[in-house]
Amino acid sequence: MELACLDLEGVLIPEIWMAFAEKTGIEELRATTRDTSDYDKLMTQRLEVLAKHNLGLNEIQEVITTLSPLEGAKEFIDWLRKRFQVVILSDTFYEFAGPLMAQLGYPTLLCHTLTTDANGKVLDYNLRQANPKRQAICAFKSIYYRTIAAGDSYNDTTMLAEADAGILFHAPDNVIREFPQFPAVNTFADLKKEFIKASHRDLIL
Ligand SMILES: [Mg+2]
Repeated sequence: MELACLDLEGVLIPEIWMAFAEKTGIEELRATTRDTSDYDKLMTQRLEVLAKHNLGLNEIQEVITTLSPLEGAKEFIDWLRKRFQVVILSDTFYEFAGPLMAQLGYPTLLCHTLTTDANGKVLDYNLRQANPKRQAICAFKSIYYRTIAAGDSYNDTTMLAEADAGILFHAPDNVIREFPQFPAVNTFADLKKEFIKASHRDLIL
């Protein structure tokens, strides 16, 4: 059996922190996993910036409710789910993802959680586990699923490497250059073709 594992932000939905940075005008919140490979450093920095500006979960959720999946993402995930079992492996938080997952038809999502106080102040972030995307692939392999994974950023590359097949989608040039072993595509039409190519079954477009 084959499993399709997808990153969420930058693949199916916009970058949530980027959208929040745009809405609030806070430049320091623009950095994403596309720019850095150290997720802990990135999150610590984000929480410091939120605290400094007295912003919390309520303000972030307000922005998230205005967001939609990327154009074509819903059609793509419906297409994929007809051909594979699909799991989203994301470095976002359940507290953020809800409204967008509703628009995508609630595919299975493995991601992190936030600790907040009664006023919505973000006190801490709780990673599901270290190297969560790669570990999920290891777990699926241990129950004999063949895995095909797609993502756009540094935080996806260990997942892509561990999977039986890895695909870069919407990746920035620096990631494509550093990881030439993965095919890199930019449209959902081409991503479908890569999944079909990577599959060991005779799937049709
Ligand atoms: Mg991403």
